[in-house]
Amino acid sequence: MSTTEFRPAYAHLGAEELAKRASALRELMRSCRLCPRNCRADRLADEVGVCGVGAQPVVSSYGPHFGEETPLVGRSGSGTIFLTHCNLKCIFCQNYDISHLGHGRPVSRENVAEIMLTLQQRGCHNINWVTPTHQAPMLVDATHIALGRGLRLPIVYNCGGYESLEALRLLDGIVDIYMPDAKYGDDEAGRQLSGVQDYWTRCREALTEMHRQVGDLQVDADGIAQRGLLVRHLVLPEDMAGTGPIMEFLASLSRNTYINVMAQYRPQYRAHEVPAINRPITSTEFRRAVQAALDAGLSRLDQRRALL
Ligand code: SF4
Repeated sequence: MSTTEFRPAYAHLGAEELAKRASALRELMRSCRLCPRNCRADRLADEVGVCGVGAQPVVSSYGPHFGEETPLVGRSGSGTIFLTHCNLKCIFCQNYDISHLGHGRPVSRENVAEIMLTLQQRGCHNINWVTPTHQAPMLVDATHIALGRGLRLPIVYNCGGYESLEALRLLDGIVDIYMPDAKYGDDEAGRQLSGVQDYWTRCREALTEMHRQVGDLQVDADGIAQRGLLVRHLVLPEDMAGTGPIMEFLASLSRNTYINVMAQYRPQYRAHEVPAINRPITSTEFRRAVQAALDAGLSRLDQRRALL
């Protein structure tokens, strides 16, 4: 994708509106309701809620990433920025050093803007905010700064799927590509494994809103993602992730929903506390998950040749 041909959503929105959205998102941090936990911490005064981040962005690492989904990676990689901490507390987190242990360092919004521009200069196809939910206002602020300095890549909102509708609506017209997890197809698993009461209820609302904003995934002539919804689902042992209901819901949004059914689960962090997830998945469990997607009528599966 040539950066001269493509114009991202936030460029269409314009600098003035982007600044207004950043301001409105910042207001959500005053008594924090950036995610459905509704901690009500005054994060503008640097108080912290469950996610553990106050007023400043905290970044773990950044760089071109080649392990992401095929339409994001292309030839030059996805421009990932790994944000520190998370609003979910998954006991099996595959990146627990960043999400739970807080590896990273506080940076300024200017620094985040510079990082985005650096990733663009390095030829990345997109700016991929990894775990952005609890830091969205700072990221939009940084996008506002970077737009003025020539940022022209689509933003990928690569989140856990536990999102507030109020915050998502403020991102309408800023994010080009939503890439949420759909972790569990029932609320009980979210209670047991991620410490939230209503994961699947909130996730369905979020998926519906994301699809309303950006529609099905669109790619350019080179197969590079430009806009749309791309969903990730990590298969868990013993079908703890509730794959079937998730696939049916995604198909009800659109049979053209792009889905990455992921096989790479390994018991990490505190997964040993729940015997059912204290092992990798079997090939049979993975095949069943892929079949559930196909049975629901979904056909856009990432790296499908590798799956079947
Ligand atoms: S973003 Fe953090 S502080 Fe805000 S409601 Fe969610 S977990 Fe709580």
